[in-house]
Amino acid sequence: MILQGPSQFYDSREKALTLWYTTATDLPKEVYLHLAYYIPKIYSRGPNPAPQREDMLAQHILLGPMEWYLCGEDPAFGFPKLEQANKPSHLCGRVFKVGEPTYSCRDCAVDPTCVLCMECFLGSIHREHRYRMTTSGGGGFCDCGDTEAWKEGPYCQKHELSSAETDPLMHLSEDMIARAYNIFAIMFQYAVDILTWEKENELPPGLETLEKSDTYYCMLFNDEVHTYEQVIYTLQKAVNCTQKEAIGFATTVDRDGRRSVRYGDFQYCDQAKSVIVRNTSRQTKPLKVQVMHSSIVAHQSFGLKLLTWLGNIIGYSDGLRRILCQVGLQEGPDGENSSLVDKLMLSDSKLWKGARSVYHQLFMSSLLMDLKYKKLFAIRFARNYERLQSDYVKDDHDREFSIADLSVQIFTVPSLARMLITEENLMTTIIKTFMDHLRHRDIQGRFQFERYTALQAFKFRRVQSLILDLKYVLITKPTDWSNDLRQKFLEGFDAFLELLKCMQGMDPITRQVGQHIEMEPEWEAAFTLQMKLTHVISMMQDWCALDEKVLIEAYKKCLTVLMQCHSGFTDGEQPIVLSICGHSVETIRYCVSQEKVSIHLPVSRLLAGLHVLLSKSEVAYKFPELLPLSELSPPLLIEHPLRCLVLCAQVHAGMWRRNGFSLVNQIYYYHNVKCRREMFDKDIIMLQTGLSMMDPNHFLMIMLSRFDLYQIFSTPDYGKRFNTENTNKVLLYLVIIFNGEKNRFSPGMGQVNATDEIKREIIHQLSIRPMAHSELVKALPENENKETGMESVIEAVACFKKPGLTGRGLYELKPECTKDFNLYFYHFSRAEQSKAEEAQRKLKRQNREDTALPPPVLPPLSPLFASLINILQSDVMLCIMGTILQWAVEHNGYAWSESMLQRVLHLIGMALQEEKQHLENLNEENVVTFTFTQKISKPGEAPSNSPSILAMLETLQNAPHLEVHKDMIRWILKTFNAIKKLRENSSTSPVPETEGNIIEEGSRDKDKAERKRKAEIARLRREKIMAQMSEMQRHFIDENKELFQQTLEELATSTSRALDNSPTVSDTKLTALGPKQTRVTEQRQVVTCILCQEEQEVKVDSRAMVLAAFVQRSTVLSKNRNKVIQDPEKYDPLFMHPELSCGTHTGSCGHIMHAHCWQRYFDAVQAKEQRRQQRLRVHTSYDVENGEFLCPLCECLSNTVIPLLPPPRGLFNRLDFSDQPNLAQWMRTISQQIKALYILHNSCGSNSEKMDELQLPKGFRPDFQPKNLYSESIKEMLTTFGTAIYKVGLKVHPNEEDLRVPIMCWGSCAYTIQTIEQILTDENKPLFGNLPCRQDDCLTSLTRFAAAHWTVSSLSAVQGHFCRLLASLVPNEKNENLPCILDIDMFHLLVSLVLSFPAIYCQDFSGVSLGTGDLHIFHLVTMAHIVQILLTSSTEENGMDQENPNSEEEAAALTLYKFLCQRTGSALKEMSSGWHLWRSIKAGIMPFLRCSALFFHYLNGVPVPSEIQVTGASQFEHLCSYLSLPNNLICLFQENSKIMNTLVESWCSNNEVNRYLEGKRQAISYARESNKLIDLPDDYSCLINQASNFLCPKSGGDKSRAPTLCLVCGTMLCSQSYCCQTELEGEDVGACTAHTYACGSGVGIFLRVRECQVLFLAGKTKGCFYAPPYLDDYGETDQGLRRGNPLHLCKERFKKIQKLWQQHSITEEIGHAQEANQTLVGIDWQHL
Ligand SMILES: [Zn+2]
Ligand SMILES: [Zn+2]
Ligand SMILES: [Zn+2]
Ligand SMILES: [Zn+2]
Ligand SMILES: [Zn+2]
Ligand SMILES: [Zn+2]
Ligand SMILES: [Zn+2]
Repeated sequence: MILQGPSQFYDSREKALTLWYTTATDLPKEVYLHLAYYIPKIYSRGPNPAPQREDMLAQHILLGPMEWYLCGEDPAFGFPKLEQANKPSHLCGRVFKVGEPTYSCRDCAVDPTCVLCMECFLGSIHREHRYRMTTSGGGGFCDCGDTEAWKEGPYCQKHELSSAETDPLMHLSEDMIARAYNIFAIMFQYAVDILTWEKENELPPGLETLEKSDTYYCMLFNDEVHTYEQVIYTLQKAVNCTQKEAIGFATTVDRDGRRSVRYGDFQYCDQAKSVIVRNTSRQTKPLKVQVMHSSIVAHQSFGLKLLTWLGNIIGYSDGLRRILCQVGLQEGPDGENSSLVDKLMLSDSKLWKGARSVYHQLFMSSLLMDLKYKKLFAIRFARNYERLQSDYVKDDHDREFSIADLSVQIFTVPSLARMLITEENLMTTIIKTFMDHLRHRDIQGRFQFERYTALQAFKFRRVQSLILDLKYVLITKPTDWSNDLRQKFLEGFDAFLELLKCMQGMDPITRQVGQHIEMEPEWEAAFTLQMKLTHVISMMQDWCALDEKVLIEAYKKCLTVLMQCHSGFTDGEQPIVLSICGHSVETIRYCVSQEKVSIHLPVSRLLAGLHVLLSKSEVAYKFPELLPLSELSPPLLIEHPLRCLVLCAQVHAGMWRRNGFSLVNQIYYYHNVKCRREMFDKDIIMLQTGLSMMDPNHFLMIMLSRFDLYQIFSTPDYGKRFNTENTNKVLLYLVIIFNGEKNRFSPGMGQVNATDEIKREIIHQLSIRPMAHSELVKALPENENKETGMESVIEAVACFKKPGLTGRGLYELKPECTKDFNLYFYHFSRAEQSKAEEAQRKLKRQNREDTALPPPVLPPLSPLFASLINILQSDVMLCIMGTILQWAVEHNGYAWSESMLQRVLHLIGMALQEEKQHLENLNEENVVTFTFTQKISKPGEAPSNSPSILAMLETLQNAPHLEVHKDMIRWILKTFNAIKKLRENSSTSPVPETEGNIIEEGSRDKDKAERKRKAEIARLRREKIMAQMSEMQRHFIDENKELFQQTLEELATSTSRALDNSPTVSDTKLTALGPKQTRVTEQRQVVTCILCQEEQEVKVDSRAMVLAAFVQRSTVLSKNRNKVIQDPEKYDPLFMHPELSCGTHTGSCGHIMHAHCWQRYFDAVQAKEQRRQQRLRVHTSYDVENGEFLCPLCECLSNTVIPLLPPPRGLFNRLDFSDQPNLAQWMRTISQQIKALYILHNSCGSNSEKMDELQLPKGFRPDFQPKNLYSESIKEMLTTFGTAIYKVGLKVHPNEEDLRVPIMCWGSCAYTIQTIEQILTDENKPLFGNLPCRQDDCLTSLTRFAAAHWTVSSLSAVQGHFCRLLASLVPNEKNENLPCILDIDMFHLLVSLVLSFPAIYCQDFSGVSLGTGDLHIFHLVTMAHIVQILLTSSTEENGMDQENPNSEEEAAALTLYKFLCQRTGSALKEMSSGWHLWRSIKAGIMPFLRCSALFFHYLNGVPVPSEIQVTGASQFEHLCSYLSLPNNLICLFQENSKIMNTLVESWCSNNEVNRYLEGKRQAISYARESNKLIDLPDDYSCLINQASNFLCPKSGGDKSRAPTLCLVCGTMLCSQSYCCQTELEGEDVGACTAHTYACGSGVGIFLRVRECQVLFLAGKTKGCFYAPPYLDDYGETDQGLRRGNPLHLCKERFKKIQKLWQQHSITEEIGHAQEANQTLVGIDWQHL
């Protein structure tokens, strides 16, 4: 067969083919023949692709020859040569993979789209700058080396070395160039032809084959309409595949964009096609399916391969790259748009996803990497722009899969953007294209989104990306303008104005009266458009600002368009004349609440923006003739913005309630930080502009009229019934407009720069409360100043406070900045304003200052706006102020409100500040024209004869109902006096006499102090009352809870105190076990039930009391995570392996209940949950069916209860102080007893003679059945808890009869003690005296329970367990196949032996004490452990110790070791240093001794010597003493040498021990190292990078979408994805859930790398997200990686997570999170 054979064959074949190529007369034809013959043979002709085989064959038969031809020699030599000769350009150009980290420098990047790859970033100067990090969505490339992208440091170290740009073709031979042209032209043409081929059954000319095998593929294509589930379901039906196969198909379709789902003859495929189409056409458009001839598919596969190949080849040489670009852009025979590149681009939307991404990548690595051709390509792209965008809008794939997305790569290059604007008129093209897609207009030609269908709305969303393109084009501002640029920009500006014109006045609203609106009108589309355009509008102004000519032209154009928009706005409106205080003005009658009004006025607002810019350029003063100022009509300018403000005021006043939420939302966005810059702010500017050009009295009258307030102020006796809210609002606007912020602090208007503006914003945000960095960022408008701007000033105005273990870092306003606080800051919402006011007053009170919040001193106005100030002293304004003050004086309830007064006071304050400043900055020529103080001192003229404003203020100063404002009034009067003095000093103008006397300073101060004292008393009283109120309001249950808590805590402390004090044995040695055990008088223990509040003593025969408890399987201590229990039904848990691979942990919140109270509570919960789940189908955070419940007091997750017991040992210990047997004697007796039991149990009747034979040891009565002393309810609880441990620990169905129940109980006791000991060791804490109450209580009851459990299980079974356990150390012939001592965890063995021993002991009446048995068991296990340690000790000798004289212990250790060597047949390595041996014994046995001390302490209740309650030296000795061990542990062997020699020998002769010593197996060595979570890198981007290189393990080299790191074992998983779902217990689960079962026995801790989020999982249904241990420099986490600040590991927070894990609190944490946030319950955690 031709397609197989050794590779040499291919080589010679390649050479032969090359020869033939080289000599061919018609190369294209020959090549096509070759391809036509082989491709259908190579590319799979079966249902399943075999990519590796295909690739291999294609390389050898198709590509290989081309490589030979290209190189003219073996490519293995040719390509390296090319590479060497290549002088690469500066550009990096690395194309980003999905999820790869990218970096941008906030200091140096020209725009945010300029990014670096990780490698370049690490080698660049930006590493030290303020950078931003994101993960790439795929596509895009590294901008390293692009001098246009970076203000500084464009090259990394690597790319800096590259040579300067020369002609890359210089490095290639003529021959090579010619050959490259030939081959590239043919192959590129071929690939383009075949990929864009649209016929399904016919090949392009030249590729037809002679033999026509008629096989077809049914090809399924991807769309973004149908869901995974729909596709999977349909496929199962259509092609009869399994669900698994269907998932496979669907995954590939989603990834590659298409996949054949059936192979066969035409009909067979067509049938599948029609089923798919039929099945998916119901909801939306059907899935795209084609039946394609197999050879077409084969050629297309090769076509893709070829493009990738071309990409690789040009990577060897910049010269080849240039040739390919030339080939690609060469115009074909059909003229315009006929180049290969054009062809590909124009058929983009017809190609499937996989094909698109392959050719996009080729474009990026070729056209965009070559500086010359990048420009040519940009032109092609711009010329096709309209068509490409339209294709994209019609297409349904995401933008990242569209060629249109390349715009970001082209338009953000400043030089290209400029070139495209001037030469291709790009701006106009983009805007026009955009407009073309928004066809719906009303009769005035304005956009109309009202009647959009779903499809149109979808299109509208896609069209918005064009605005982004416009933004890219404008992002870098030109430094110098050519005439061409001016002309083309203004042309674009015209188009833009056309766009804005369509928006001016869109979505008009009419006030709804009577009925509520029936349907909320569509408003979001219009606002989306506004929001998207906001940035562009600002950029347009920025551009205009740069060139005076452009600015003037733009201003004229804008004005013209505005005139067009509002030509005849007075039509039909009735003209009226307004007059107040002798001023009168003509205007129209217009009432916002009756006519149509629109919130969209982009043209007016743009004009306002341009006007500000003009004021900056000063052209207005130098050449006013250039400006159409005469055309400006101030009343016309202000009319619409004014209406907008009136609308807001009325909505806030509740006049538009019937218009529904859509209006409320619009008003919200109008003021919101996202829009206000080009909405609210500009309306204010427009009013200021109008005002600066007209008589302030006229302006005020028009304003009052629009707000419906004219009548009130023009005729003082007018009914006074009106909306105070409106007056409030108008006053607020007056404050803002006339002397507020905008006209001073914006660049251009006031004489301040952008930094001051942002400073002001920050000061006012922080006046509300201290804020985190991200909050501040959110509160600032989105522009280039956003973050860098903020950071440049933040230090000046705020102090940073670092975060603790939770929470985030906060900025706090510096005290000296509070003087800049303006109560009526124009960006405050009402809520913000009152919060800020409260906060500032509180601050002042704390500092013992008066609480007036006077307006701050403001910088001067710019000349164009200087006249604004006159409004404050205009007659109408004074009239308004006077009227309101008059109302306040009259204390006229319904017309007047405090906030009104407050605003007037503020206005007066501002006027005084102005005047003061004027006087202070006075120079010779200036005449002070601002004489506010004079005017307010004058009384009203006849006929009203009202008192002067000043006089009224003085009256108000003493008004009892204005306590809050007195400080402010006082401040005003004081400032007034100061100004008076200033005037006297400068004597510019005589100060008029003031009426009424201003009180002397001295007496005033006294008065003030008195008032302060009173206020303070009042405040204290108020606070006290408030506190009482809130106390009363607190929920009853909560109150009780606290009460409970209190009693419990008191109880806990009292019992523990009793324990501590009880032994008056401070001098005596305390011994925890054995015949010499310290006797403790038993304490009466009385506890209270948290449910019924009754007290109860814990006694053997009383009703059971229980602790809520949570039992879980745990792998926290595991040294081998791969071990799983295969068949839990048959698993024998008797011996715990030292790997501790899976234990059963018991924890408790320590809350005590009556057993019967708990039972009743649990039944009620169960019933309630069942009803609830049936009714609402909602789940809870706990699984009632599995016995879970929440502790009724603390809501801690629990799944069982532990009974409280008195010390259990006392019950069965018959004390006898006669001689106790030694170890050897005791063992002999026990062996006899065991033997007797064995015979007894195994000879049920049949061998009765054997029974007789049997000699029972003295005092042993095997027929004796001990009486169970516990009350029924305690017995029941013993069974309940035992069964729970068994059920959870083994994951089996509960069965209280199972013989393994007691084993599991002992195991849980041992394991729980071990985990606690481990935590204490890790934290370097002493063994005792540090456990929290709840853990102490839990261990006490757990140990006592485990010790008592045998009383409710089968006696013979427990005896049997004891016998087998003992046999592992003391072998007998009955028990074989027991694990060797290397494979037994000695502490588990100890606990099980000690706790099962009473089952035998209870039948022993020989007078031996129980303690003797305990002691011997303990000694025996200890010795076994020492041998275990010595056998597995890996200590290497070194010479350091030899100087020390050998101590007794060391000598003994050496002797023992030598004995071991002997017994193991010298397989143990030689050791000569006793010092080392003794040291490793001590270190190795420490955890065991500590655990034993805990165990015996809780078992026997002997108090702990104070020495082990603190850390310190000689812990070992104190432990030994407490445990009744000799300090020299080896003595144990020596004392019992006879029997021990035999035992040690039997241990050592075990086959497994030999295998270990021969190195044939592993064993755990001691002390076991504690388990920690994995080490995380300090820099988070390392993790991102690691994750971006991670491939899904199941779908063949695909990038994983949600790479997730197991923090326990460090495995990376492909989470939340179909590809990696597996079946677990009959359900499909995601990779994380599956992993938790293997790694954490159901519990898992993960880091979702892309989201920067910690994930806790427990079981299949429980999970929660947890804050990651990574913080940015501002002390904040970044969940979702939205902010992109560099993140670093916070070790403390990571330790906290680790501790949660070590303490087995993950499940509890999840429970609390789910209780707090119900949405967490609804998440399908199992699919993660
Ligand atoms: Zn790079
Ligand atoms: Zn670089
Ligand atoms: Zn930088
Ligand atoms: Zn109770
Ligand atoms: Zn509790
Ligand atoms: Zn793991
Ligand atoms: Zn996967």
